[in-house]
Amino acid sequence: MIEFVSIFLVCYVLHALGVTIGYHRLLSHRSFSCPKPVEYFWVMLGYLAFEGSPIWWATIHRAHHRYVDTPLDPHSPKFGLYNAHVGWLTRKGYAIHIDPQLQAKDLISDPLYAFLEQGGSWHRAHLIAFSIGLLVRLIVLALFGWVAALASLLAALAVLQIPLMLNVICHIPKLGYKNYDRDDDSVNVWWVGILAMGEGWHNNHHAYPGSAKTGMRPWEFDLSWLTIQLMRKLNFASAINVAPGKTRTNTKYDGACGDSV
Ligand SMILES: [Zn+2]
Ligand SMILES: [Zn+2]
Repeated sequence: MIEFVSIFLVCYVLHALGVTIGYHRLLSHRSFSCPKPVEYFWVMLGYLAFEGSPIWWATIHRAHHRYVDTPLDPHSPKFGLYNAHVGWLTRKGYAIHIDPQLQAKDLISDPLYAFLEQGGSWHRAHLIAFSIGLLVRLIVLALFGWVAALASLLAALAVLQIPLMLNVICHIPKLGYKNYDRDDDSVNVWWVGILAMGEGWHNNHHAYPGSAKTGMRPWEFDLSWLTIQLMRKLNFASAINVAPGKTRTNTKYDGACGDSV
């Protein structure tokens, strides 16, 4: 039992950081720079938690910031809890106002991400993501046994819930608090902050989407930010943008990220 719990917790933290650091703060917002192998390391940890195509993820997330809590937002709970949680995933492709060719120009030239995107077919891209995720657990099963394989699989499925849950919980005003007075419904929710490695400080994030740090108050624990700081010490991260100083030095993306609006 101790073995199972230990492996589960290690896998949970690693996959969750793959989503928060790789998919979110790095690919979606370009809040810091790092060598390509380091980028792939974090993104693949997120990918193995069944997060789907990195281009798809970043494009949808940038649209969320751009159209936050309006009818054009892909998953605002203002227009239905089911749609905000998983209903929006049942679409076959992008809505007319969301186009990775325009909103993720900085990602579509990457051959690995382009392959995983499958030309914009959501079904094919999700099928590949789930197939690769399950194949890796079969390899873990063969090498390390069923305890490691099951713990790894369940940790990945738990991490899969992080952004889906956050999209709903952190956009319901009565469930949290605001540090920044904004027009949208984003709020900080302490327990999501802990479970989601710092991403639950969502009102802070909508106030400063380009910031690599989202925990602004002393009690707002942000494990993703602590990890990025460790990466900087090891020379794996540079050009780190931190709110509210607006010290952005990295402008590789075309302004389509949420922090431009
Ligand atoms: Zn949001
Ligand atoms: Zn964001």
